[in-house]
Amino acid sequence: MRMAVFDDIIDSLFETSGTLVALFDPQDILRRSNAAFRDAYGLAEDETLSWAQIVRRNFEQRRGVAFTTDDFEHWLTSARSRRGKIPYRAFETDITDGRWLWMTETVSPAGWMLCIASDITELRTGERSLRQDRDSARKASQTDELTGISNRRHCMSVLQETVAKANKNGAGEACAVLLDIDRFKQINDSFGHQFGDAVLIDFATSVQRNLRPADSFGRVGGEEFMLVLPQLGPAAAELLIERLFKQVGRPGCLPSQPNFHYSFSAGLTLIRPGDTPAEVYRRADAALYEAKMGGRGRQMSA
Ligand code: GH3
Ligand code: MG
Ligand code: MG
Repeated sequence: MRMAVFDDIIDSLFETSGTLVALFDPQDILRRSNAAFRDAYGLAEDETLSWAQIVRRNFEQRRGVAFTTDDFEHWLTSARSRRGKIPYRAFETDITDGRWLWMTETVSPAGWMLCIASDITELRTGERSLRQDRDSARKASQTDELTGISNRRHCMSVLQETVAKANKNGAGEACAVLLDIDRFKQINDSFGHQFGDAVLIDFATSVQRNLRPADSFGRVGGEEFMLVLPQLGPAAAELLIERLFKQVGRPGCLPSQPNFHYSFSAGLTLIRPGDTPAEVYRRADAALYEAKMGGRGRQMSA
């Protein structure tokens, strides 16, 4: 039986524990944390911030997360492409006060994330650089270098896992979407390849900003991208894409060309029991083709 009297004890030990604990909701907003966590990441007790806001402030104040890059947006896009996608992950990370943490992230089916981190500064220091090399090699093998999001190989393995889950009962609905920037060749031809690269980065960053942690997003080809959206039915996926149409590629998105804007097209499909990854991809691609034929800047479903 659950004893209410223990709740107060747990609450007070939770607050004073040296272990860092934090709870993020499915939209990645910090809902609860203890003093050790707030102290490490420079948070006040009454603040309600998203994870992105926390790390952005860490970057600006040189506090909390120990960044090894000057390009915060690229770091954020890349970190988001790995955050909250799997039920459990653990990794070593360091913070600006010199401490090393063993960070674990446990994600519920509904998308809540419990972060628990222990101080491991004193432990196994000798092998740390080896482990870091291994972790950064793994990261590099999953990441598209230009945009910082998942690369084709990682995207396909996420699709494979999601399709496998859809074949089991009770996994909930999931959708896959192919996105392709419209008339991208013309953009390259008019403004140069480097500008084209900046458009790809803008697209990846702007889309990623609108996703839940559970969503996966990757670059599967030159100017073609894929979304895998677990726990999301076709109607909600359509709304998400409509929101992207409104927010991505607007005039001013690339300050070096203030009037420049761009559009993209989308092909959506629901992942069904009995599907194979190839079949899901084929349907999304057919829907994308229809969207292109229908005049671009729109979505179609198959
Ligand atoms: P559509 O609206 O039908 O999609 O036309 P599109 O011009 O976007 O498509 P198309 O497939 O004809 O052209 C894609 C272009 O993307 C051709 C290729 O040179 C360019 N591209 C591919 N990868 C990169 C890249 O990494 N950087 C840049 N700048 N361009 C790239
Ligand atoms: Mg295109
Ligand atoms: Mg294309």
